[in-house]
Amino acid sequence: MISAIFNWEDPLNLESQLNEEEILLKDTFRAYCQEKLLPRVLEGNRHEVFDRKIMNEMGELGVFGCTLKGFGCSGASNVTYGLLAREAERVDSSYRSALSVQSSLVMTPIYLFGSEEQKNDYLPKLAKGELVGCFGLTEPNHGSDIGAMESNISYSKEEKSLVLNGAKTWITNAPIADAFVIWARHVEDKRIKGVVLRRDSPGLRTSKIQGKFSLRASETGMIFMDNVKISEDQILPKALGLSAPFTCLTSARLGIAWGAMGAAESCLAAARQYTMERQQFKKPLAANQLMQKKMADMMTEIALGLQSCLHVSRLKDDDLLVPEMVSLLKRNNCGKALEIARVARDMLGANGISDEYNIIRHMMNLEAVNTYEAKNLNLKSPHLECPVVFEIDRMLSGVVQGKTPARPLQNMRNTLYEVKTSFAWANLMPG
Ligand SMILES: Cc1cc2nc3c(=O)[nH]c(=O)nc-3n(C[C@H](O)[C@H](O)[C@H](O)COP(=O)(O)OP(=O)(O)OC[C@H]3O[C@@H](n4cnc5c(N)ncnc54)[C@H](O)[C@@H]3O)c2cc1C
Repeated sequence: MISAIFNWEDPLNLESQLNEEEILLKDTFRAYCQEKLLPRVLEGNRHEVFDRKIMNEMGELGVFGCTLKGFGCSGASNVTYGLLAREAERVDSSYRSALSVQSSLVMTPIYLFGSEEQKNDYLPKLAKGELVGCFGLTEPNHGSDIGAMESNISYSKEEKSLVLNGAKTWITNAPIADAFVIWARHVEDKRIKGVVLRRDSPGLRTSKIQGKFSLRASETGMIFMDNVKISEDQILPKALGLSAPFTCLTSARLGIAWGAMGAAESCLAAARQYTMERQQFKKPLAANQLMQKKMADMMTEIALGLQSCLHVSRLKDDDLLVPEMVSLLKRNNCGKALEIARVARDMLGANGISDEYNIIRHMMNLEAVNTYEAKNLNLKSPHLECPVVFEIDRMLSGVVQGKTPARPLQNMRNTLYEVKTSFAWANLMPG
């Protein structure tokens, strides 16, 4: 005798796999997202406005950097982080982007690779949303092929100081950020390093990218660095090479894999509601098997996508995560969510293209969510194609703790990296 009841909104009973704390944090944040974010998103999306106060509100709720320990962060599970991303993106990918960037791309590198002073200076204020951060990796000439970046750190005799030069583009929050985590190559040792800057650094300038048709309620911009004077203590001491920003991207991409399912759930719910109410040929649209098949497919993909997220997040909590798992999920879930949004949009006919019904907004957002932080398995993850490079990066991180002889390893790694990139990333280099 089966006593459990089937719930189309949670077909595989994800709820039963969460602990009490995870359920409490999810439900609290869901209430905030539905009551406070949802009413703001229509206008925000129409007029390309991100309300800065959202960062303070989310900070008050303790959602930024929620998996980190200390510095005002709660040390919650990676599953919790995913659940929060899902709730934010159920409303809009722009709000989930704000959460991801602040948590995974700004707080995480400072937490993992920063000095105690850098952590104390930045993390508590970022956790509260008093400071907004951004993550500058992509450049005008280098997106997927970020290993070829041109931004650089060098010593200037005139300034008698290290200086940072270069440009970054498509940077979430750049126009409103107070703190900037910038990735640049140090000309001396050719390694990519992370630098933390404040907005008032002379020579640092930002601009807003106008006219986006995706993530319109998110601030996206460019960063220009013209002889920005920096000191050694602004460089993240434990970030050596590309594996540092990739570690952050792996964290963010797991949140994106959860978030995309939130957007898809919102599209399914809207399409279900609409087709149950809309009468054509003297019966609800939802009474047609063709419509039911579409919704059954959506529900199935969402349920499987969420189960995979849960599984991989638990592995991360148990220190068993490898980045390839996240690449697989990010690619699958973003692609499936985009397809779900497109089908759901079509189910509403003409009303499907009106922003009043929300689906077209999700659909447009998911185009960018599919693109950023790489849409393919291999791009932005060189170790997927060349595990040796990644392993050497890992060993070089060990150099910080004085475990490995640095110079020969570094030379070997740089040579391998050059060979690999000259093979044009995607398909030619065997793993
Ligand atoms: C809204 C938004 C917010 C963003 N926020 C940030 C941020 O906060 N920080 C940041 O650093 N970046 C950010 N990005 C940038 C994002 O990460 C890049 O757009 C992404 O990495 C792709 O780079 P690209 O746009 O230069 O495309 P390209 O690298 O020029 O690629 C163009 C196309 O070619 C494909 N491609 C590339 N190389 C190959 C290959 N070898 N084989 C086959 N196909 C290939 C790509 O998949 C893509 O479809 C953001 C982007 C968007 C749209």
